[in-house]
Amino acid sequence: MKVSDIRLPEKVNKIIGVLQHAGYEAYAVGGCVRDSILGREPEDWDITTSAAPEETKALFEKTFDTGIEHGTVTVLLDHEGFEVTTYRIDGKYEDSRHPKEVTFTRNLREDLLRRDFTINAMAYNEREGLVDLFGGLEDLRGKVIRCVGDAEARFSEDALRILRGVRFAAQIGFSIDEETRAGMKELSHTLKRISAERIQTELVKMLVSERPGLLREAYELGITAQFLPEFDRLMTTEQETPHHMYNVGEHTIHAVENVRPDRVLRLTMLLHDMGKPALKTIDENGRAHFKKHAFESEAIAWEVLKRLKFDNDTLHKVTRLVYYHDYRMPAEAKNVRRAMNKIGEDIFPYYMEVRRADVLAQSMYRREEKLENLDAVEGLYREIVSRNQCVSLKDLAVTGRDLIEAGMEPGKEIGEKLRELLSAVIEEPALNTKEELLKFLWKE
Ligand code: ATP
Ligand code: MG
Repeated sequence: MKVSDIRLPEKVNKIIGVLQHAGYEAYAVGGCVRDSILGREPEDWDITTSAAPEETKALFEKTFDTGIEHGTVTVLLDHEGFEVTTYRIDGKYEDSRHPKEVTFTRNLREDLLRRDFTINAMAYNEREGLVDLFGGLEDLRGKVIRCVGDAEARFSEDALRILRGVRFAAQIGFSIDEETRAGMKELSHTLKRISAERIQTELVKMLVSERPGLLREAYELGITAQFLPEFDRLMTTEQETPHHMYNVGEHTIHAVENVRPDRVLRLTMLLHDMGKPALKTIDENGRAHFKKHAFESEAIAWEVLKRLKFDNDTLHKVTRLVYYHDYRMPAEAKNVRRAMNKIGEDIFPYYMEVRRADVLAQSMYRREEKLENLDAVEGLYREIVSRNQCVSLKDLAVTGRDLIEAGMEPGKEIGEKLRELLSAVIEEPALNTKEELLKFLWKE
């Protein structure tokens, strides 16, 4: 982890150079400096400058007014855009989210002071090297998330920072400084004012990070209670069954950790057991049951994803996977074909990953057996795909028109007949030729 490892892209250097040549100060700033020092590929390169927006615009051929009222201008170099923002002081925040007004300044220190965490408040250019006024480098080395200045004050200005802090801890594997942590806890209730879209962005970044287990920290700090109270309920639902060794919340966290960092998969694991608290029963032996919880989980998943304004594609995939997460079958080819038909060929590979992550977050009870079943199902799936076997109407060797040509009356029976033929083909793939199916058609 060395400052000398920072390499600004050529175009960023060029923009900084043009601004400096015109007599202004300019630096790469924030996340890109942090990520460069950490050896991570920055998502975007932000530039901060003493030049006023109009002054910046005058220096470059192609610019866009991205957020001109906040001082941001996008400079386009060969179709690539870079945000250049004037040094600014954020005025009073109206609602823990929007600064009422911003004031431009010619002083870099004031601009760095408005930033959320020390590791996000460093600036760099090749002429002056690193500008680190609040111990950001030390915190990077010590792996600490710490507010610039007084934590409570910073979180009351903007509640989103609470969630950003936990998300950074998850992404880069840092711990949260004590005072910062206390401020988060104190003000977690103000997250209620943050829009669903922003919550969604932070939640997804945290889920697909290397340490989604920070969900536990978010729960302890009272953060999940604000936008995902369904999760808090999981944390207090015990599972008195030999299949489990954790309560539903801890099981959920382990299941999220067990699946690869894909947004659909991680969301599915987060939501897969949300129906359990409402459906828990205890039998006469003191054993817990959660009959049909997958249905209830699906309904809750739908509600949560809608509330957090997820797109339709994510909504449909995740709810389908949640609905089928507990679908089990003896490992026989016909069962796998039937499951592919029900669950959908598109998400069947996801379904298998979901099953495995779920099993690996359960107790050791019958684990061997469960995993052997999953391995066998996976093997059969691969064979079915490589043999191109038909599991849906689109691959059936006859169409509705074929049935009519063979003498059936047009009408809704055609659809029924096709489904019946499909079901026969799922049982017995060798039937999937036109000749065999037409024979089959007249059999009854
Ligand atoms: P990433 O791009 O990985 O999400 P980032 O730190 O670059 O992380 P951006 O949203 O791109 O986050 O913001 C760039 C910089 O702007 C941050 O590094 C930080 O200095 C500042 N910043 C962003 N959001 C806030 C905020 N809510 N409060 C204070 N400063 C912020
Ligand atoms: Mg960024």
